[in-house]
Amino acid sequence: QTQNAPLLYMDGVSVSFDGFKAIDNLSLVVEPGEMRAIIGPNGAGKTTMMDIITGKTRPDKGEVFFEGSTDLTQLDEADIARIGIGRKFQKPTVFESQSVFDNLVLALEGERSVFAALFHSLDEEQRKRIEEILETIRLTSRRDVLAADLSHGQKQWLEIGMLLAQDPKLLLVDEPVAGMTDAETIETARLLREIAKTRSVIVVEHDMSFIRDLNVKVTCLAEGSVLSEGSLAHVSSDEKVISSYLGR
Ligand code: ADP
Repeated sequence: QTQNAPLLYMDGVSVSFDGFKAIDNLSLVVEPGEMRAIIGPNGAGKTTMMDIITGKTRPDKGEVFFEGSTDLTQLDEADIARIGIGRKFQKPTVFESQSVFDNLVLALEGERSVFAALFHSLDEEQRKRIEEILETIRLTSRRDVLAADLSHGQKQWLEIGMLLAQDPKLLLVDEPVAGMTDAETIETARLLREIAKTRSVIVVEHDMSFIRDLNVKVTCLAEGSVLSEGSLAHVSSDEKVISSYLGR
């Protein structure tokens, strides 16, 4: 970690698909312990931006640095996950036939260690870590329930818990509240705010009341670059943002 460096630094990043610029001179800086909301109309480049950060897509040009000195454009997806960038996709990928507790064990131990998961041969520290995560995701009382029997919202929280087991420094979350009830949406905002006390979070979401609830700096993308950035009040009253959502 370079002293005072942002956790994530992207500058002048561009990527084209068949000559079409999906990301066009994009810059984004996220500080340690910051939660940032990313909004923007369909096709704005939000997913491609996440793909670049996680090494799924390599930019044609531009800089992407983690913790000041780690050049993410030179690393593959597995390396990037290992150095502390976790990603939650929209569709939860929990192990349906395992309990909530065992899902967390699998996440902590790695999927290879099914033996440890089945026989709970965890040390004291691992056990404590899982208890903490269960508290954070509010599933302590549902620990023995099969993941298949959780609600949609609870599955999303379990998957966030599984990512927390890997202790990421930066967590990318793609549309976490899609399909959730209002109560689940409010609970998810609380959960992300709690997570952001100890790590950075980038959350892509369309639900504006949820973003208001998060109460964080917002970056609006359009046509692959930053259209507007600041408080939700600032961004949502920006003429450029309004025009871009209305397609004018
Ligand atoms: P968002 O997530 O904001 O909806 P995307 O990042 O998915 O936007 O897409 C940005 C643009 O890039 C879209 O026009 C999309 O069609 C295009 N695009 C994304 N990925 C690919 C790809 N692998 N091949 C071709 N075009 C792509």
